[in-house]
Amino acid sequence: MDTFPNQMLHRLRHLHIGISRSRAALFAVTLIVFGVALGGLNPTPSSTAPAFDRVVDLALPTRTATGAGDTTTAPLAATDQSPWISMKVKSGQTLDTIFRSQGFSVGTLHEILALNDETRSLKTIRPGDEFAFRQAMDGSLEHMRYTLDDERYLMVDMVAGAPSAWIQERQITTEMVETEGSIDSSLFLAGKAAGLSDAMVMKLANIFGWDIDFVLDIRSGDRFFLLYEKVYRDGEYLRDGDVLAATFVNQGDRYQAIRYEADNGPQYYAPDGRHMRKAFLRAPLNFSYISSNFNPKRFHPILKRFKAHNGIDYRAPTGTPVYAAGDGRVTESAYSKFNGNYVFIQHANSIVTKYLHFSKRTVKKGDRVRQGQVIGHVGATGLAQAPHLHYEFVVNGKHRNPRTVSLPAVQPLEKEQLAAFQQHAAPFLTQLSRLESASLYARSE
Ligand SMILES: [Zn+2]
Repeated sequence: MDTFPNQMLHRLRHLHIGISRSRAALFAVTLIVFGVALGGLNPTPSSTAPAFDRVVDLALPTRTATGAGDTTTAPLAATDQSPWISMKVKSGQTLDTIFRSQGFSVGTLHEILALNDETRSLKTIRPGDEFAFRQAMDGSLEHMRYTLDDERYLMVDMVAGAPSAWIQERQITTEMVETEGSIDSSLFLAGKAAGLSDAMVMKLANIFGWDIDFVLDIRSGDRFFLLYEKVYRDGEYLRDGDVLAATFVNQGDRYQAIRYEADNGPQYYAPDGRHMRKAFLRAPLNFSYISSNFNPKRFHPILKRFKAHNGIDYRAPTGTPVYAAGDGRVTESAYSKFNGNYVFIQHANSIVTKYLHFSKRTVKKGDRVRQGQVIGHVGATGLAQAPHLHYEFVVNGKHRNPRTVSLPAVQPLEKEQLAAFQQHAAPFLTQLSRLESASLYARSE
């Protein structure tokens, strides 16, 4: 679920912007305020990782014929050829205008476009598409290369004046790397300062964000150990891949997660087979602060009597999206004088969640909703003085504190699946503990 980490990152940014009031000064100010000093966050190729094959033979690429009669190989002798001229398609450009600007024959272009379906698709190129050309001695087109996607080129060779097309599969390889980090202020800053990509920080936050609040729970000295993939194409770094396994030590508590593909695609599981994801979001929105806590014995300052506050008031700007805390069915979506625009959701295990004071509702009675789906937007309708969400968590008809109630788990892996998962997880857990021991040993020296 994307909404949760996104909202968390937004909160992190929001928090720091609140301190510095300036995005430009943000990082420097935070460095001073928190004294970010990150040691030991250095990605190193893992010794037990599968060996990465860096030898890529570009002279003899894997070929897949796509045009009729082009089954003969066209060896690309690197010696007497002109270099590739690469270019990105600009707005308004067609292959026709590109050919003219390169001085290539438009007749040749028409022959290329008529070859097959792959080359016909070149009639509708888009800005940003990538081409490369090689010229013959006389300046005419000899080779053309079009980037189809991350993993494939469409190649066109001119052989004896006639074009032939084929697909070159590009070699995608992955390498597992291990990383460790020590945090002083936030995971976000730790990752940034250490050169982890935003995407990788988000992935890590996504995995542990169900158990750890990266704004409130993080303490100096918290550590993480990470096994993740780097993706290479034709021997060159392309992007970071997935987190394969990770340990996060927060205030002395150790959390571990391993990526595993069961029935519903890849997900993260604790070593005992529990889902890292919970059945409910702790807070169903990206909030600024809590303006009123759950308090069954609140003494009302104006009414001068005890009046329970059965939920939590989350302050947030009008329009802030509010998410369904868990999967369920909408039992109420209406307006009343006190609640304003409100939505109630019935979940499994006799749990009901209630959301009041929306500026706008986006679901109606009877709708099935998924966890993280937007059900409305923060407002101040009904009995509300400022824009906020009043959120209630009701179990078997009894109001519970949404901040502290123990949230039901998602169904864990069972029997055969659990056995297969644990077999998969064992080597990752071994590597993580080796990494952690080595780190402890290095610190004690
Ligand atoms: Zn309230």
